[in-house]
Amino acid sequence: MHQHHNALRVARALQPAAPVTLVRPEAALDAARFFVSAFPGKSFYAVKANPSPHLIELLWAGGIRHYDVASIAEVRLVRGLLPQACLAFMHPVKAEEAIAEAYHQHGVRIFSLDTHEELAKIVRACSTDGVPAEDLTLCVRLKVSSAHSKLSLASKFGIGVADAPALLLAARQAADALGICFHVGSQAMSPAAYADAMAFVRAAIVEAGVTVDVIDVGGGFPSRYPGMEPPSLETYFAVIERAYESLPISYSAELWCEPGRALSADYSSVLVRVEKRRGNELYINDGAYGSLFDAAHVEWRYPVKLVREDASEAEAMDFAFYGPTCDDMDHMKGPFALPGDIKAGDYVEIGQLGAYGSAMRTGFNGFGSGETVIVSDAPMASLIPAGGQPSVPQNVVPLGIAARS
Ligand SMILES: *Cc1c(COP(=O)(O)O)cnc(C)c1O
Repeated sequence: MHQHHNALRVARALQPAAPVTLVRPEAALDAARFFVSAFPGKSFYAVKANPSPHLIELLWAGGIRHYDVASIAEVRLVRGLLPQACLAFMHPVKAEEAIAEAYHQHGVRIFSLDTHEELAKIVRACSTDGVPAEDLTLCVRLKVSSAHSKLSLASKFGIGVADAPALLLAARQAADALGICFHVGSQAMSPAAYADAMAFVRAAIVEAGVTVDVIDVGGGFPSRYPGMEPPSLETYFAVIERAYESLPISYSAELWCEPGRALSADYSSVLVRVEKRRGNELYINDGAYGSLFDAAHVEWRYPVKLVREDASEAEAMDFAFYGPTCDDMDHMKGPFALPGDIKAGDYVEIGQLGAYGSAMRTGFNGFGSGETVIVSDAPMASLIPAGGQPSVPQNVVPLGIAARS
């Protein structure tokens, strides 16, 4: 991979006609170090947010040892890169063949489920000569509210609190370790999302009366985007730790999380070229079928920056983008604020695309991905403290004591 200092140097050196992915290894390392040092439990990287092998290895280098995989392709990918990593297969609806391959060939021992049918499937797939496995960690996925999140994950998966106790009891019989997991939805804008979800967890544990070994609070940790300024991640961690400590679970229980977005958003941005301007619409060379799926389909706004030799003096204006394909739906409403004198031939850097950006790229209409270049400047809008160090050193004042004083 080429290496340059920043987007301007890349534009100058390459004059690229296709979108260029700018990756920031330091930012990925910082994000990993931050979760490892500040989250009060184990952090599983949710690979679907960005399955780049480079990123997966950087997160390992930053201290991440656990990976949340959701398909057999992700299992094979991560196992191939990291023989020592702990993998958790956290998709609640899996092909039986995928479970069997994950268990017997790739050493996966952690599985999630939200029905009795899936439990039976896991037990069958992990048996050897009809003898059930005795080393499974089974996590029952609970349905919780997505009310605080920008992208809901409340309808597709999860068992309701009323039905959860029976499934927890059944899973307990088949499991060496029993967990409860949930997902509050992606880009949770308030830590209250986790406190609310933990109330459901408590109700399910009390009702079932089972011993629970793992509480997995899932993903949903936010990044920063225009118009979305969440509180610090430390605030989320403090709320989660407080709720966790008040649950009726054993002292040997473990707290897990599965950040996708928060570990990957800072990793990359994309350098695009303006091919045409029509009023306040810019026709750029990446779009809905490239790295801007969320910008088109859920009106996600990303930070943007004009990349020009001499900074523009023009006042900022709100723009919408059209992508390169012939499809009207290849439209990103924004608004994206850029200098009013922007014109065809200008380059624009679109930030925070490490999460659900390049991961969603298709080759539709012949517009695939261009080059990838390493840059060393800071990400455009990070929520991760510089250097990956938590702003308040952890473990200095136990949270329980701080809460009471
Ligand atoms: C998508 C997903 C994640 C990651 O979610 P983010 O909002 O990106 O943190 C974690 N766990 C599961 C089960 C998921 O499906």
